[in-house]
Amino acid sequence: MASGDVAVTEVGRDFIRDIVKADLDAGRAKGVVTRFPPEPNGYLHIGHAKSICLNFGIAEEFGGRCHLRFDDTNPTREEQEYIDAIERDVRWLGFDWGKHLYHASDYFEQLYAWAEDLIRAGKAYVDDQSPHDMRVNRGTLTEPGKNSPFRDRGVDENLDLFRRMRAGEFPNGARVLRAKIDMASGNINLRDPVLYRILHATHPRTGTEWKIYPSYDFAHGQSDAIEHITHSICTLEFEDHRPLYDWLLENLVSADPDKRPQQIEFARLNLNYTVMSKRKLLQLVQQGVVEGWDDPRMPTITGLRRRGYTPESIRDFCARIGVAKKENVIDMAQLEHSVREDLNVRAPRVMAVLRPLKVVLTNYPEGQVEQLDVINNPENAAAGTRKVPFSRVLYIERDDFMEDPPKKFFRLSPGTEVRLRCAYFIKCHEVVKDAQGEIVELHCTYDPATRGGDSPDGRRVKATLHWVSADHAVRAVVRLYDRLFSVEDPERVPEGKTLLDQFNPGSLETLRDCPVEPSLDAAQPGARVQFERLGYFVVDPDSAAGALVFNRTVSLRDSWAKIAQKR
Ligand code: ATP
Ligand code: MG
Repeated sequence: MASGDVAVTEVGRDFIRDIVKADLDAGRAKGVVTRFPPEPNGYLHIGHAKSICLNFGIAEEFGGRCHLRFDDTNPTREEQEYIDAIERDVRWLGFDWGKHLYHASDYFEQLYAWAEDLIRAGKAYVDDQSPHDMRVNRGTLTEPGKNSPFRDRGVDENLDLFRRMRAGEFPNGARVLRAKIDMASGNINLRDPVLYRILHATHPRTGTEWKIYPSYDFAHGQSDAIEHITHSICTLEFEDHRPLYDWLLENLVSADPDKRPQQIEFARLNLNYTVMSKRKLLQLVQQGVVEGWDDPRMPTITGLRRRGYTPESIRDFCARIGVAKKENVIDMAQLEHSVREDLNVRAPRVMAVLRPLKVVLTNYPEGQVEQLDVINNPENAAAGTRKVPFSRVLYIERDDFMEDPPKKFFRLSPGTEVRLRCAYFIKCHEVVKDAQGEIVELHCTYDPATRGGDSPDGRRVKATLHWVSADHAVRAVVRLYDRLFSVEDPERVPEGKTLLDQFNPGSLETLRDCPVEPSLDAAQPGARVQFERLGYFVVDPDSAAGALVFNRTVSLRDSWAKIAQKR
């Protein structure tokens, strides 16, 4: 696929929606209930957004509902901060779970009762093997496992031990509760999987009440059943868990598959030049290579928000990439394409100069100031115009001038005429340098007849430059971003290297004292604008009155694709 192109899937059609529709048509499901089940062990990332859009989107389209359920079964890694952030991020993306906010921990008592049921049915046992022995006896992909010497314990002994596990009589790791399925199964997940482990820890919701915690496999399907989930949509890595998911539900809930939740797997989102795992993102935060979970370089929802992404652009991206059964890697350029399209319509244009070069208009009257009408958004006539002050001393972009230009350089150079946006034609007649030979300012003349940006004699110019009046400029900090990692697939770490070795040290460039037009003086954090010719920017929450900070969301064109091709 040519870079910059976007794979458009027919919106609203994918294999999961087909399954849901078929289930409804055949009467196998009466309605649609889905859920988004994050583990609160980190902040949500763009991969989660795909799952959120899918689960909430399907519920919406089929007139059902989607639950938000925290899979809070591992208190050693989970924190209230993450719970709060997840709720905020799902809402920000534009989805609403209404009153259907749940926690796996809401079901601890019911899950426990089900575990006792399995014991009584002879389908679960307490295993005293050491973690090491358990691992060894599980076997491998090519060899069957070995039965535990504790596998044939009687029901009463199992019940007694399990109750004492719950009472906190044993230290962490001393025993586990396992399902009794088949140690020789070709599917390792069915080799007597662990249902409960001992963990003396403080849980954000249940405190120290529980000394044992259910495994993901035991908690997940049963939580689905309690909430009457119809379609339990998850990523492909759970495909091998589906037989266990079904085994547990069959034994605890119903023998009739139509009366049970159905697990359906889809391919997770992978994006190049970044990582998509809370654990790895946490590493970046803990090592301090980024500022935090909301660093604008992070693929987290909170990072993207701070970067200036809109919820609409993320939802659009998720709709475009579609849902498939086969893993692939999406080009970061596609995400950028979505935000660019959205901001193109909604972001007002303003003028700012990142690397200023002073221009003195030698024929412009000293002390004169004109308020010129400048168009706010050529894509949206209703956005109107604003007044921008123009005066004798201006800043233009350093890149927009070359003293000795190559043939195809149409911007300012000695003797050429260019337009200043919505202002005048100017022509450079003198280049002023310092003792080191650095250009410090340009002396130009303007043509008063070209006010507004057009010449009455029909004279043409080949370039239009943005500018800011020096006396009126507000100074701002501007942060420019590049890819978080310098390699396309940072998850593939070469021998002897670490993930962090692949971090892109040039991923943040901070420019200070950038002159921006005075209309931005009162811009509030979160405000999104286009700096003409430079890209889309958002006011960072670090801004204070008189100390604006802008983050570049994305440049105007996909310059990255061209750079990457040249390498
Ligand atoms: P991570 O590895 O980032 O921690 P996870 O799968 O462990 O991801 P959970 O909090 O368990 O994170 O995920 C909640 C839901 O989001 C799950 O249903 C999971 O399948 C889905 N999900 C996670 N990562 C992705 C992804 N990259 N693309 C699509 N869905 C994802
Ligand atoms: Mg997980």
